[in-house]
Amino acid sequence: MTSDPSERFEIAINTPAGRLTTGIEIPTGFVPVTAIVPLMRRLGEETQALEVARAIESQKVVSCAKGCAACCRMLVPLSIPEALALREWVDSLEIEERQRIVSRFDETKAVLGARGLWQKLAAWCESTEPPNDEQAELLNREYYALQIACPFLEHECCSIYAQRPAACRELLVSSPPEHCADVIQNPIEPISVPVRMSTVLGLLWQELTVTPAMLIPLPLALDWAEHHQHENGRTWKGSELFDKALDKVWRCLSQSFQNQSVEPKP
Ligand code: SF4
Ligand code: SF4
Repeated sequence: MTSDPSERFEIAINTPAGRLTTGIEIPTGFVPVTAIVPLMRRLGEETQALEVARAIESQKVVSCAKGCAACCRMLVPLSIPEALALREWVDSLEIEERQRIVSRFDETKAVLGARGLWQKLAAWCESTEPPNDEQAELLNREYYALQIACPFLEHECCSIYAQRPAACRELLVSSPPEHCADVIQNPIEPISVPVRMSTVLGLLWQELTVTPAMLIPLPLALDWAEHHQHENGRTWKGSELFDKALDKVWRCLSQSFQNQSVEPKP
């Protein structure tokens, strides 16, 4: 999680694709919510690895590979803790690298702004009533139609692989990769995601701050986090953050068990 003093635990999580047993380190002191982001993303990847193994057992092939990046033209949603963590990470970079990233985001903002989409997405981020599924789908489609590469995409590879959002980690498909060139027209077969960590982190933030659960579109994340930097000033005990996050993981898993019609094991 961080270099703060921490305690190590073993945890076990039952998922529809099997039982995950893993070691975790929880800070013993008070930390900002961003401190829990890497751990939750790792747990998300470990639970999804069980789904991938199950897919392979049932003769499916995971099509995703380095250099395949049609999906990096979709609108990626970040939970607020992830948006704050991304800003923190960019701010920690050497000035040249930071400026390079910021200017890429500025270019994306200009393209979206010229089409009026930046304004719509910014209104989405600041609204106390997030768009419903239908409105979100329309915004997603409008964005996807522009085929704008993610500001972090370089030579069709993710330039922030270790820092990439949970939503990027969770998108794996078993359909042919060429189908991803047009996800509106072509059938896509995603690998199941037992726990969406952007949802977990979003719900965690909602509970911690008693604010609506929001998702921030990636192109707006740096801008949003800069204007809401004060929100990252608060700290909570590491164990409290993790307990609350784990509670959301179980809620998501129980939904996955229901969706897959599998009985959770005790
Ligand atoms: S989701 Fe599609 S475009 Fe993205 S890496 Fe996988 S196969 Fe390639
Ligand atoms: S952060 Fe990386 S993986 Fe995610 S959309 Fe951008 S380039 Fe692709």
